[in-house]
Amino acid sequence: MCIDQMWIISTHATRVTANVSSVYPKDVEVKRSGVEDMTRLAYLHEPGVLRNLKSRYGMNEIYTYTGNILIAVNPFQRLPHLYNDHMMEMYKGAEFGELSPHPFAMADRAYRLMMNYGISQAILVSGESGAGKTESTKMLMQYLAFMGGKVESGGRSVQQQVLESNPVLEAFGNAKTVRNNNSSRFGKFVELQFDQNGKISGAAIRTYLLERSRVCQISDPERNYHCFYMLCAAPPEDRERYKLGDASLFHYLNQSNCIKLDGMDDSSEYIATRRAMDIVGISSDEQDAIFRVVAAILHLGNVEFSEGSEADSSVPKDDKSQFHLRTAAELFMCDEKSLEESLCKRVMVTRGESIVRNLDSRAAALSRDALARIVYSRLFDWLVNKINTTIGQDPTSKLLIGVLDIYGFESFKTNSFEQFCINLTNEKLQQHFNQHVFKMEQEEYTKEEIDWSYIQFVDNQDILDLIEKKPGGIIALLDETCMLRNSNHEIFAEKLYQKFKDNPHFSRPKFSRSDFTIHHYAGNVTYQTDLFLDKNIDYAVNEHQDLLHASTCPFVSSLFPPSEESTKSSKSTKFTSIGSSFKQQLQGLLETLSGTEPHYMRCIKPNNVLKPAIFENSNVLQQLRCGGVLEAIRISCLGYPTRRTFEEFVDRFSVLRPEVLGLRYDEVTATNMLLEKVNLTGYQIGKTKVFLRAGQMAELDARRTEVL
Ligand code: ADP
Ligand code: MG
Repeated sequence: MCIDQMWIISTHATRVTANVSSVYPKDVEVKRSGVEDMTRLAYLHEPGVLRNLKSRYGMNEIYTYTGNILIAVNPFQRLPHLYNDHMMEMYKGAEFGELSPHPFAMADRAYRLMMNYGISQAILVSGESGAGKTESTKMLMQYLAFMGGKVESGGRSVQQQVLESNPVLEAFGNAKTVRNNNSSRFGKFVELQFDQNGKISGAAIRTYLLERSRVCQISDPERNYHCFYMLCAAPPEDRERYKLGDASLFHYLNQSNCIKLDGMDDSSEYIATRRAMDIVGISSDEQDAIFRVVAAILHLGNVEFSEGSEADSSVPKDDKSQFHLRTAAELFMCDEKSLEESLCKRVMVTRGESIVRNLDSRAAALSRDALARIVYSRLFDWLVNKINTTIGQDPTSKLLIGVLDIYGFESFKTNSFEQFCINLTNEKLQQHFNQHVFKMEQEEYTKEEIDWSYIQFVDNQDILDLIEKKPGGIIALLDETCMLRNSNHEIFAEKLYQKFKDNPHFSRPKFSRSDFTIHHYAGNVTYQTDLFLDKNIDYAVNEHQDLLHASTCPFVSSLFPPSEESTKSSKSTKFTSIGSSFKQQLQGLLETLSGTEPHYMRCIKPNNVLKPAIFENSNVLQQLRCGGVLEAIRISCLGYPTRRTFEEFVDRFSVLRPEVLGLRYDEVTATNMLLEKVNLTGYQIGKTKVFLRAGQMAELDARRTEVL
């Protein structure tokens, strides 16, 4: 055996050889049940952290703190005793850390900080898909509604409307994916506004980047948005009204074999969604129009095209397609012929002259899908706006608590524009997180007048510049390429390769013509550029815009208000891009967050089979790394993770040297004397507290136990 290797007995009682550098001391002091706060572990390292989470998870203790961060490991089973009214009562006003770690404790702390100091708060929930973000968000909101709810006589209370906005948004924005049966396909920031008395006086919901491609394209075993299946399972009179039949009859749904979902009854969900829509103030006329649009999209999806009589032209393929086209037009309340033309023809405006061009059957099908996507995304935006209008804002409120539920870092086999935007979000949030963690540490050290110059700040600004710098970042280059005539993704990729060939955070994968890799803080991700251009373009083509604006249904027409450009004569549609507007939205979010005191909750998905009691080590470790939890621990280890006031310290450890309790010594002297007695070095004495290095507390405790 060479010098840097050793024999160890693993947890499975097998003997293995390992490098000394990868063997970590085990925390023998820690009970089998683990510790509620990881910073209390004597040895803060990855295996220790993992072991602690695992043993807690085994006992259904799914929440653990790491200092101020709350870690939640998805139980994949209902634990109703954790979230009832009794629990809320218990956490109300309890000191943070006094009771077991819990989202209620976090919400309570945020609420109290807001009330006591008048500072707005934000709770940032992150984690990968299926980790439990949305469920956690709901619990946080439940608690805040409990604390800040007003008892209303008659009418709907704000808190009730905020809570009921969940089922509405979930019906239209959630879907079954491989990772989560109820996956939110959009990001969400809910801002609760409070009055001086701490009562909820208004709320605003902001959503980010709904996944549009899902409306027209799904792959087995995923599903489209829940609302489509609900409507197909509606009571017979509604199905008749919207001319629907079984979900399996529709192309947008039957591309996947998954129609029914275990544990979800689409018929009763339909009724529940309708009820939630009533509560958030969507009138029955509006509901009717909404579901008409949903049904129209399904019929639209069943229109197929074949070659027309003219060269490169197209027509609805057969009677069946013609029927669906007619039905879609009826439901949209627009002219059937105009609908057909808007799909099969394109009007080109050059020098003030319009030329009508035929689209071949492939292009017509693409046009059909583009129409379905834009209608659906406008519908979703309408819902969010409507909810915000009915809930109402309190412009006088200076006290806010925001809760952010947004997709975590993603890295799949193929990564497209959506992953690119999601990962940008995570880079930005990570920067915010790092800055905050460092700031907090530094503030504390400065306040206590101890040296903190050893802390190094890991900043990901370079990666953010690579992506979003204007001009010259990836998003700017993408917009530029989209505006070129006859451009394609290879041109875009070529631009990137040239511009960033020396950038350390960018690389071109070997043998690739159009992929690129970004070295994100959480790992390398290779993006396929094929659909970047299409997915970045964000406008309704004039044909679709004019068609639906002319609908005799005021609701449909209002989804397509005349754009400024189209009223300005011949100039072609103004270019707007999803990438740039998303970047701006994120900017706005970060600005809001910078005015708040943040709290972080990290959700962990313990396995990929979505089952209880299975804890996959490497999988969890990877998530802890991506979520910055280990980074926060590292920072904390570099410094002085354990702090105790002199009083607390002397109180606990005076048994080691009882004479310190004599009147002659003040608390600082007594603290120093105790530390000398046990020969500890490297600690620091601040103004009000003693700062201990990682592990020193455990050593003191061990000595104390010996004496006792
Ligand atoms: P995310 O929003 O992170 O994608 P969700 O919040 O939708 O994930 O959670 C995925 C699934 O995990 C939920 O549908 C639920 O079955 C389960 N789950 C998550 N958190 C909890 C919890 N605290 N208690 C019980 N089940 C949970
Ligand atoms: Mg979710």
